[in-house]
Amino acid sequence: MRTLTGVAASSGASVAPAWLYAAADFEMPQGEVDDRGAEVEKLREAVEAVGRALEEKAALASGELAEVLDAQAMMARDPELADSAERAIQDQGTPAAKAISDAGESYAEILAASESQYMAARAEDIRDVCKRIARRAVGAPETSVADLSKPSIIVATELPPADVASLDPELVQGIATQEGSRTSHTAIVARALRIPAVVAVKGLKAAASKNVPIAVDGDEGQIHIEPDDDTKKRLEGKAAAKAARREELKARVPEGLAATKDGHRVEVGANIGAVAELEAALEEGAEGVGLLRTELLYIGHAKAPDEDEQRDVYGTMTELLGDRRLVVRTFDFGADKPVPFLDIDAEENPALGVRGIRLARLHPDLITTQLRAIVRTAVGGRRVGVMAPMVATAEEADWFVEQVEAAGGREAGVEVGAMVEVPAAVLVAGDLAERLDFLSIGTNDLTQYLHAADRQQGALSYLQDPFSPALLRAVQRICFEAHDQAWVGVCGEAAGDPAWALIAVGLGVTELSVGSDSLLEVRVALAEATLDDCRTAAEEAVGAPDPAAARRVAAGLLA
Ligand code: PEP
Ligand code: MG
Repeated sequence: MRTLTGVAASSGASVAPAWLYAAADFEMPQGEVDDRGAEVEKLREAVEAVGRALEEKAALASGELAEVLDAQAMMARDPELADSAERAIQDQGTPAAKAISDAGESYAEILAASESQYMAARAEDIRDVCKRIARRAVGAPETSVADLSKPSIIVATELPPADVASLDPELVQGIATQEGSRTSHTAIVARALRIPAVVAVKGLKAAASKNVPIAVDGDEGQIHIEPDDDTKKRLEGKAAAKAARREELKARVPEGLAATKDGHRVEVGANIGAVAELEAALEEGAEGVGLLRTELLYIGHAKAPDEDEQRDVYGTMTELLGDRRLVVRTFDFGADKPVPFLDIDAEENPALGVRGIRLARLHPDLITTQLRAIVRTAVGGRRVGVMAPMVATAEEADWFVEQVEAAGGREAGVEVGAMVEVPAAVLVAGDLAERLDFLSIGTNDLTQYLHAADRQQGALSYLQDPFSPALLRAVQRICFEAHDQAWVGVCGEAAGDPAWALIAVGLGVTELSVGSDSLLEVRVALAEATLDDCRTAAEEAVGAPDPAAARRVAAGLLA
């Protein structure tokens, strides 16, 4: 047995023979073409064919995969990408395949240079789309993934989403890739399809061969080549336990709206970034969306989406939600998550820089367009909320309320809120609550800013503990300050930990927004604890001197 370590990308474990994925390669044409006009036609035909093929695959796919393929189809049809390739053909006689590859590469490089893993992962999506167009332009065959015929672990350098779409999910027991990150599309799709996956496994391709048994441990981030019997048994046991836990939770979760055992109502919504994620969340019983991250609408696009495009996306979501609430967070990008259409200077400290509401104030056109689209979604009794990220002062809250009102938000009944993720906002939470309908605590950023510890720094992970006294006391203070003025929710990752969620409820939080894989756990935990129990434990946890002590108190709340 040989064990390789990578990044845990999708939870679960499985053991099956390896199936080696190989991307079809082709020789890139060089030199100058004779007939530039004909070459431009060739490019247009290839763009159209690839765009259509991706759309067709998207139509057949579902969930996150469909979303990803739609996004790739949009990249294929991006007019700026095609323009830049056509210019190279017209001006320099570059062959179509090379022109589109070069154009895609310059986009990809901008994205890849981003400090944000999410953005860097989008670079691979653009490269994949351009490779497909180039292959089509030279008449090279498409990658064939159709010959997967028995349950297998897919082993690949990288697995483009369009190829994931061609795989039979019934047969894919696990995915292991040598490249990629937790936010690459392989990882996102694997999580949506509940396929265990490990990415960024160094030395994987050299170590794995066809049909050799492989074990994927998507929780520990490990790949075992030719696993021994003990490992096999352990992982198979783990997979069975996970499936059994899901069944058990489904049996325990009560029907209807979420509440504590004694009937204290707490809304449990989902955090999403795309329509497909909403479908998955609704299947798990989400009562609404407490955080729609809208960055996906902008990132990787040559221009910002216009009002109608955005309204269509939000409108599709409110249709699916019916009378359940959709809370949209206005765009949160900046130097850490750059967008191609804004010329944002590199910053020494992007986490402390011009992002979120700070960036919105510099680009009133962008925020106005987004707010109008959101407000237009709140028709026909649809429940819509909007909140701004990175709010630090009452003055910023006033500005945001004014913008929402100018977009018609009050008449449309849109609730206005702010994320509390900056320590200053904790200290002025009462002033914010006076001006707003709700506060939503972003524990991911709030924890990093409270401790002045970068949330991406592995070495500082001990300072990102949601049970830290600083974070728990911050939540307590926010609830105390907001009391009777605004409702308080939590949309950071901490809310997905059922024990932490119960402490938050004990402190006064009345809405939790979590990843769809945590919905069942949180709903069941709530249904099995009383509000009094939560309050007593919360008081003790807030006084605990360290995270471990608070965690022990919280764990006592779980049945
Ligand atoms: C947060 O900071 O807790 C949050 C929910 O926002 P994001 O993770 O998108 O920064
Ligand atoms: Mg945040």
